[in-house]
Amino acid sequence: MDYKQYITVVEDWPKEGVRFKDITTLMDNGPAYKSAVDEIVAYAQDKKIDLVVGPEARGFIVGCPVSYALEIGFAPVRKEGKLPREVVKVDYGLEYGKNVLTIHKDSIKPGQRVLITDDLLATGGTIEATIKLVEELGGIVVGCAFLIELTYLNGRDKLDGYDVLTLMEY
Ligand code: AMP
Repeated sequence: MDYKQYITVVEDWPKEGVRFKDITTLMDNGPAYKSAVDEIVAYAQDKKIDLVVGPEARGFIVGCPVSYALEIGFAPVRKEGKLPREVVKVDYGLEYGKNVLTIHKDSIKPGQRVLITDDLLATGGTIEATIKLVEELGGIVVGCAFLIELTYLNGRDKLDGYDVLTLMEY
C-alpha cells in the first residue's frame, strides 16, 4: 500500500524548518492503519518475539496493536517521572538540552526477545536510548519497526547491526 498518501506533511511545525510528518491522518483511515500494523506483525512473526517496547507517545500507537495481534505484552518507555515503580533510565541529547527516558525495571526479563516500535526514525536518538534501556535489562533487540524514516538524517547509522523495518521513506 502507498501509505504516504495518508501522511500529512505540516510545514514549519513545531518550529521553522521542520516538515512534521503527521500520522494521525493515517490512523484515521482504518484500512491503512490496519495494513501498516499488519506489515509490522508479518515482519515480527518469524522473529519469535516475546515483547514489544515503544517510546511515548507515538511508539504506543504503532506498538500496542502489534502486541495485541501477536498476543504478547507491550512495555512502555516514558519520560522521567511518569512511570510509578522502580525504573532504569537513560539520558540522551536533543538539539537543545537533553531528554531522559525510563522503563520499569521488571518489564523485561533477561533473554527476552524484543521488538521496538516508533512512528518515525529521524536522528535515531530516541531509538538508540530505547535500545540501551532494553539491553540494560538483558533484553535482546531482534527488530526495530517504524512507519517512517527520514533518510537524510541518517538515523540508521545509530542502528548498525540491528534489523530495521520502515514502511515509508522521505
Ligand atoms: P529522533 O530521536 O531524532 O530519531 O526522533 C524521533 C522522534 O521524534 C520520533 O518519536 C518522532 O515522533 C519525532 N519526530 C522527529 N522528527 C519528526 C518529524 N519531522 N515529523 C514527525 N515526528 C518527528
